[in-house]
Amino acid sequence: MGSLSGSYFDRALQVIPGGVNSPVRAFKSVGGSPLFIQSAKGAYLKDVDGKEYLDLIGSWGPMLFGQAHPAIENAVRNALGNGFSFGAPSYNEVLIAEKIVSMIPSIEKVRLVNSGTEATMAAIRLARAYTKRDKIIKFEGCYHGHGDSFLIAAGSGVATLGTPDSPGVTTSTAKDTLTAVYNDLASLEHLFNANPSSIAAVILEPVVGNMGLVIPEPGFIEGIRQLCTAHGSLLIFDEVMTGFRLSPSGYQGLTPVQPDLTTLGKIIGGGLPVGAYGGRAEIMNMIAPAGPVYQAGTLSGNPLATTAGLAMLNLITEHPEIYPELNRKGEYLAQGIREQLWELNIDGFVNQIGSMFTLFFTKKAVKNFSDAKTSDTTKFGIYFREMLEQGVYLPPSQFESWFLSTALEDAHLEHILKASRIALEKTIQA
Ligand SMILES: *Cc1c(COP(=O)(O)O)cnc(C)c1O
Repeated sequence: MGSLSGSYFDRALQVIPGGVNSPVRAFKSVGGSPLFIQSAKGAYLKDVDGKEYLDLIGSWGPMLFGQAHPAIENAVRNALGNGFSFGAPSYNEVLIAEKIVSMIPSIEKVRLVNSGTEATMAAIRLARAYTKRDKIIKFEGCYHGHGDSFLIAAGSGVATLGTPDSPGVTTSTAKDTLTAVYNDLASLEHLFNANPSSIAAVILEPVVGNMGLVIPEPGFIEGIRQLCTAHGSLLIFDEVMTGFRLSPSGYQGLTPVQPDLTTLGKIIGGGLPVGAYGGRAEIMNMIAPAGPVYQAGTLSGNPLATTAGLAMLNLITEHPEIYPELNRKGEYLAQGIREQLWELNIDGFVNQIGSMFTLFFTKKAVKNFSDAKTSDTTKFGIYFREMLEQGVYLPPSQFESWFLSTALEDAHLEHILKASRIALEKTIQA
C-alpha cells in the first residue's frame, strides 16, 4: 500500500496500454501489480521503494554475467564519448560479426538488427526467397517474437491451417504458417506430406524457453534436420534465448545437428537492443545490398549496442568455464526444488538445462505445450508472490524459463531454496 511502484503503475496505466511496454512484464497472470526497478547490479534488482530482489529474470535472458558487469559497463562508458549513432559503417560492426562467425560454426555471414523479432521476421523472408516457397512450420508454444507470421496457434488439429492468435493478423498471413507439436516428429512429417514442395522453412526454439523450459527428446532435433533436408526446406534455429546461454555457440554447440539459419538476440546485445540472423554465405548473400531480399535498419549496428554486445561476447570467450559452473548451479537448484516437492508431496516437475529452468505445477512430465498447459497457474501465482515477498524475482508467469547468471553465488542459491520452501508451503495452505 502506498508504494512508489503502485503509484507509478497507476500513472502508467493512464498513458501506456496495460501500463507496460511488453506484456510479459505485467503481473496479470500472477496477481498484484508490477514493480518498477530503480537499478540493478550483479545478482540483484532494486525497486523504486528500495527493496532488493535476487534476479532470476536477467532481463529475460541477456544478463548472463549478472546486472551491469563492469567489463560491459566500462566498454559502453568509453564508447559514449565517440557519439551514439552514425548511420554509416563503424568498425565494431566488423568486430562483432567476426566474433559471431568465429563462435557459431553454422554462421558464415551475419546481419545485425535491433531485436529478436526483427531477426526472425527477416530470417523467414530470406528462407521464402531462397526456397521460392511460401509456407513455414513452427511448433505450438514456441515464441519467435511478435511478427504476424508467428502469432499463430494450431488448436488441436495440426494438419489444419493456422488461425491467428491475435486480432490484427490476417487469415491470409495465418494460412502460410503451419503448426506442429514439439517433441512429436510424426506431427511434423504429417505437415510435410500434406504440403509437398511448399514448406520454405521449419523454425523452432531447439530448447524451448517460451512455454516454460522444455527440452528436446533424443532424436527430435536430428529428425527435424532429416525431414528439412529431405523436403528441401531450410531449418532455422531460433536461438534468441539459447544463443550464448547454453554454450558459447548456443544450443547448436551441444549437438552435431546444424541449422541453415540462426536467429540471435538477448545476450548478443549485453542488455542493449541487438538481434542478428546468420547462416551459410550462399543464403545470406541474397540479402540487400548483396542480393534482392530487402531488410534494413536505421539503428542497426548502432555503436553503443555493438560495444555492449562485443564486450559480452568477449567475456564469454574469455570465460568458457562459466558454462559448467552455471550448469552445476542450475542442477543444484533444480534438485533442491525437486526434493522440496517430494517432501511436501506437491505435484510438480522441474525442467532444467544449464542456466535455464522452470518449475511446473503439474503431475505430468512437460514435453510440449499441451503438457505445460496442464499446470496449475493459481498455484504458480501463490508461489510467485511468496518468492517475491522473500526477495526473489521470478518471471511473472508459469510459462517462462528462469535464468541464472554467474553473479549468483552459493549463498544466493541457499536463499532461493529457502524462499522456495516457504513459497511451496504457502501453495499447500491455499
Ligand atoms: C525473446 C525472443 C524472441 C523475440 O525477441 P525480442 O528481442 O523480444 O523481439 C524471439 N525468439 C525467442 C526464442 C525469444 O526468446
